[in-house]
Amino acid sequence: MLAMCVSVFAFQAAAEGTVGISMPTKSSARWITDGSSMVEQFKAAGYDTDLQYAEDDIPNQLAQIENMITKGVDVLVIAAIDGTTLSNALENAKAADIKVIAYDRLIRDSGNVDYYATFDNFKVGVEQATSLVNGLKERFPDVKPWNVELFGGSPDDNNAFFFYDGAMSVLQPLIDDGSIAVVSGQMGMDKVGTLRWDGAVAQSRMDNILSANYTEKHVNGVLSPYDGLSIGILSSLKGVGYGSGDLPMPIVTGQDAEVPSVKSILADEQYSTIFKDTRELAKVTVGMVDAMMKGTEPEINDTKTYNNGVKVVPSYLLQPTAVDKSNWESVLIGSGYYKADQIQ
Ligand code: BGC
Repeated sequence: MLAMCVSVFAFQAAAEGTVGISMPTKSSARWITDGSSMVEQFKAAGYDTDLQYAEDDIPNQLAQIENMITKGVDVLVIAAIDGTTLSNALENAKAADIKVIAYDRLIRDSGNVDYYATFDNFKVGVEQATSLVNGLKERFPDVKPWNVELFGGSPDDNNAFFFYDGAMSVLQPLIDDGSIAVVSGQMGMDKVGTLRWDGAVAQSRMDNILSANYTEKHVNGVLSPYDGLSIGILSSLKGVGYGSGDLPMPIVTGQDAEVPSVKSILADEQYSTIFKDTRELAKVTVGMVDAMMKGTEPEINDTKTYNNGVKVVPSYLLQPTAVDKSNWESVLIGSGYYKADQIQ
């Protein structure tokens, strides 16, 4: 009898619980990979999943999360569209004894966030700016100052400030010593932020910057925090002749190693991107959920950096990798993240 109970229990243990996964949008490939990696890995660990995408619409994401709470998920894994809008929903989650993990983006202004799984976001910015400066030295060795314009991510995404601050930790000293000039004068997240990470918004801001400031001068570099913005910025630059004739393409950075941007790097348009292995982020998240569900402590490696306004959320930070033409193959193909025929 006991043996039977044990085996019935073992059978039922296939459903360790249900995880609601709320992702921001399918408009960027990285979030699609995040979602599918998590579903795959949660299933392998014995969990059911409910994966929803909100197409960058805040009320839509709130409704999806409330619905998951009503359906009685055990854990919520959320990559917020606007990290400040979830406090009420998370009150309801808390009341229903549902654990919450902030995924990639910090959820702000709520005490009901148990853990945070992300990358070292400050370092992402440092790597972007370091790559920008390396590119400037390589492509424009004789230019002084280098004319550089700055783009930031969405001001409702906590990550955007970390990327910007990380980048400025490298660029500000070079601005101060006259090596870099921000010709438009547009600096600070209030001036350079790009709502909802929208490439079209970046493209039209670049158009305006070029027409207002670069009729005489040439731009040498653009700090872009995300591949989707880089594509818009590059269209704007190409539109006025950069990358052809005697007008060299400025150094343009990026993030996420999305396929169109990797192709753009190989075509000598975008200069670099930042690879963040979303399979690893999924793995860390599944590990956190599994530990919480089993009543043990998830592995964390940072207890200081991510204060969400109410508490410092215990975090696990993964390392980003800068990618350019010199290492794309070993990093992106070598790791199995992409197959060669997806890029060529
Ligand atoms: C993520 C980046 C991504 C951006 C736009 C950020 O929160 O960390 O990887 O490029 O959102 O989707």
